[in-house]
Amino acid sequence: MTNPIRLGIFGWPVAHSKSPQMHESAAKALGIALRYERFEVPPEDLAEAVRASHAAGIDGYNLTVPHKVEIMPLLDEVTPAARAIGAVNTVVRRGERYLGDNTDAPGLVRSLEEAGVELGGAHMVVLGAGGAARAAVVGLAEAGAKEIRVLSRRPEQGETLCRSLAEAVGCRLESAPLGEAGRHFRRASLLVQATSATLESNPGAQAFADSLPLQALPEGAAVVDMVYKPLETTLLARAAARGLSTIDGLGMLLHQGAIAFEMWTGFEPPLDVMRSALSD
Ligand code: NDP
Repeated sequence: MTNPIRLGIFGWPVAHSKSPQMHESAAKALGIALRYERFEVPPEDLAEAVRASHAAGIDGYNLTVPHKVEIMPLLDEVTPAARAIGAVNTVVRRGERYLGDNTDAPGLVRSLEEAGVELGGAHMVVLGAGGAARAAVVGLAEAGAKEIRVLSRRPEQGETLCRSLAEAVGCRLESAPLGEAGRHFRRASLLVQATSATLESNPGAQAFADSLPLQALPEGAAVVDMVYKPLETTLLARAAARGLSTIDGLGMLLHQGAIAFEMWTGFEPPLDVMRSALSD
């Protein structure tokens, strides 16, 4: 019997992660031996936990909050895209070396393509300027966006994002305060919600959605919310009520995992199996 592919996810906390069931059910459907574990690691223990896992020859792993940035200096190599984003969510073993990559960016792009959103030549608005927003900007620029406007409640955070990504992305990239959203929504064919404001744990989620001038978006615009807890966020509910097309965050979660699965196993990921594992 062959040794199972050994994978895992490092996070703090990590008990809520659905990645183990997503990857293990995909492997089962393909008849691959694979074990995917949760590693609950506090920030101060990350370096030691990663060193021990590399020494034991782990085949690959994911990183979630708060480890996506701190992992970078612990790896042998980081892809240019992950370096531009400034975060690694997937690590793969190549021989003796561990390579860090970011599958959030292409995961978002695939989920939008799957939903039929036209990305080439599009004008987009990204809400937020944290790690998820950086991944969105890099992914969407790579997918052919013509212009991306980053709106953040702390304008200096948006300015820093745009300045640091100006060279990495090939499209027009500008930042503006979130309070000026109406002016920027008017030209957007895609609105990308990349803040944590719509999480169900946030008591201000409804107020956040209500504060956004969705009426300024053109007819036919699409709205994606990266948050997937809940699936129908306050923002998506308002966008649907306005007749706009909406895309929830589950597709991005699925596709970032599917891309990682293929990197680790070399097999084409069974998307339907993985999707239903996430929905359980
Ligand atoms: P970060 O903490 O790095 O950034 C969060 C951003 O949201 C910051 O710009 C923050 O601004 C802003 N923000 C938070 N609350 C508000 C608010 N009330 N009004 C305006 N802005 C606000 O988190 P990430 O970027 O890593 O993740 C953001 C969200 O994306 C997460 O909640 C996660 O659920 C989701 N996500 C989903 C993925 C998927 O696969 N579907 C993958 C990755 C992320 P400030 O700094 O001022 O607080």
